[in-house]
Amino acid sequence: MSDKPRILVADDEPVAQLFATTALEAGGFEPVIANDGQEAVEMFSDVRPDVVVLDVMMPRMNGFEACEKIRTAAGSMDLPILMLTSRDDVASVSRAYEAGATDFLAKGSSYRLLTERVRFILRDRDNRRALRINRDRLAAVQSMARIGHWELSHEGSNIDVSDVVSDILGGEAVTSRGLPGLRDALAIEDRGALDYCIAQWQRDGESFRLDCQLLGGAHIHVHAASRLGSDPTGRLTLAVQDVTMLREAQQEAERLTLHDALTGLPNRMSLLTSLGAILSGRRRVSPMAVLGIHVRGPERILESAGQAGANRAISTAARRIMRTAGPEVVAGRVLSHLGGGDFALVLPDCDSTYAAAAIAEEILTALNPPVEGAHWSVNLASRIGIAFWPQDESEAETLLDASQATAAKLPEEGGSAYGFFTPEILARARRRLEVEADMHGALRRGEFRLVYQPRVHLADLSTRGAEALIRWTHPRLGNIPPLEFIAVAEESGLILEIGDWILNQACGEAARWRREQGRELNVSVNVSSRQLAQPRMLLSTVQDALSRHGLPPETLEIELTESMIIHAGPDLLEVLQVLRDLGISIALDDFGTGYSSLSYLRTLPVDCVKIDRAFVSDLGDDRGAEGVLDAILAVAGALGLRTVAEGIETEAQYRMLAQRGCLEGQGYLFAKPLEPAGFMERLATRQQAALTGTG
Ligand code: C2E
Ligand code: MG
Ligand code: MG
Repeated sequence: MSDKPRILVADDEPVAQLFATTALEAGGFEPVIANDGQEAVEMFSDVRPDVVVLDVMMPRMNGFEACEKIRTAAGSMDLPILMLTSRDDVASVSRAYEAGATDFLAKGSSYRLLTERVRFILRDRDNRRALRINRDRLAAVQSMARIGHWELSHEGSNIDVSDVVSDILGGEAVTSRGLPGLRDALAIEDRGALDYCIAQWQRDGESFRLDCQLLGGAHIHVHAASRLGSDPTGRLTLAVQDVTMLREAQQEAERLTLHDALTGLPNRMSLLTSLGAILSGRRRVSPMAVLGIHVRGPERILESAGQAGANRAISTAARRIMRTAGPEVVAGRVLSHLGGGDFALVLPDCDSTYAAAAIAEEILTALNPPVEGAHWSVNLASRIGIAFWPQDESEAETLLDASQATAAKLPEEGGSAYGFFTPEILARARRRLEVEADMHGALRRGEFRLVYQPRVHLADLSTRGAEALIRWTHPRLGNIPPLEFIAVAEESGLILEIGDWILNQACGEAARWRREQGRELNVSVNVSSRQLAQPRMLLSTVQDALSRHGLPPETLEIELTESMIIHAGPDLLEVLQVLRDLGISIALDDFGTGYSSLSYLRTLPVDCVKIDRAFVSDLGDDRGAEGVLDAILAVAGALGLRTVAEGIETEAQYRMLAQRGCLEGQGYLFAKPLEPAGFMERLATRQQAALTGTG
């Protein structure tokens, strides 16, 4: 089959058939001839022509009738039908159109003209097809996107409206009324905005966009544009879109970003946003209080009952606070879940410490009963910090921080408590943040160093080694006490990196003592609980440090506190044993301040106890202290543990310890922690003194 357009020509005159055939072939078409109307109708479905050309006057069936029949056949909707009418016969021209003809040509025109007319209507057909396809596509897309157009006159009457718009607005009955129909479909509170926009448009031709809700609840977006503007003949074209699903998704996304999934309460971000809005000064606000509530149960239950248990504790706490003092009780209050066991309650119109304290007490009482699980029970002892706006802090975020810092500062012991914000608390909290922020680069910038406090054999006062103690000189804050920044380093996890550095540095220094003094001197290194929590890593760090500096394991001592190993898992106990087997000794630091009984010592893999400074400083003033010291020394002796007394500051303390058989000691009486050079110097002079017999 050729791909030339096929033209079905119906004419009963052989001469006309011949001319038509010749002309159409010459024009690049494929003519098919029918001898009359009847034949044309019969051939139509087989031939599937691109154009039909019908003579009007034919036997059996004339052109009009054939035209009607073909027009009703399947697939002929956009088929061009050309009628050959008698010249100037106006009646048959209109008859032809009624029968469904596309165009007409006066019979007797040149056949070349027929070819050109056929070519023209074919091109026209193709254009129409393309147009229709585009229109269908557009309509499909519009109905998918639930968007349609609506054209209105300057007065607001209907010019054209797409089905989608009628569908969105609730039927043709609504849209057929033009602008008043749209207005009536809107929720009452949104009508004013539409009126305003329309008035603006009618006056200045200003286009507008409007988000509004329909009476039925759906959300629509209306975008209106008009090129003619204030011209009273101007039209307004509206694009109307149903954005209900989009709006719902947005609302859900908003809800999720602003609410905590577990408790359904506003989260920290949402709280800060609403606090910020209240405080932004747009209207005068009365004083308010913020209660930072820290519930300790969840973190404690996490270990034993897992996340599910912690979640139970958190949602129970949320419910209890809500029912006692939350917005459920007094409208306008805001309860927010900040994360974990942390909540914040905002009390608007509250400037009385008495009122705030009463509410804090109520909350603590409500939180008091334990939360029970299948095999667990946890107590929700809590701490509440109270801060006031505007006395304490004037910004939303710092106000919230102040309440939380106050809660965090309350003593751990003694169960539930509340307290009021003081400026010192804030200063401390700020410093903490600063310390943490600056600690990140401190190691790289070389701001840490180790000092060494000599450890002295009490019987002969010879130096047996030293304890390595870290120092940090902050470029702006100056010297920061190790107890302060180590706690921060622990929380941020930086202690692992710093701990590695300490071990390496201390082992390197001890190796130097050996090289330069030719003596076995011990070095004690403090480790933190975070390091002990990863015992395998600690083991490999220790081994690396020893082998890197060629230090015998026997010269290294690791100091840890009772509280660090009292809850030790089998992993840690095993690693401690491995360290001891290697020859490293383990010392129990700050001994006596913890909870363990002396008999508990028997079960721990330690070699040495360091008697806490607290016991040493009491010696002499307090008979009881001597009794405790005797007990410690006796048990240590029975268990074969070495004893080291910390913080010896006076001769009296030293004598008492030495008499009772305490093995070693350190303290200001002998030396403060020394810079490496100072410690070397001390070693050298003592050595010299010993050699010359004057030590
Ligand atoms: P600690 O291990 O019990 O260290 C003894 C602390 O007592 C040191 O304080 C030391 O300077 C101080 N001291 C020594 N002799 C006397 C004395 O006669 N009188 C008084 N009043 N104090 C004395 P420092 O260096 O401030 O360290 C405090 C704590 O910080 C240490 O207690 C230890 O727990 C921790 N720490 C220090 N350096 C490190 C370290 O390198 N790593 C780890 N993880 N912790 C460290
Ligand atoms: Mg120590
Ligand atoms: Mg100590």
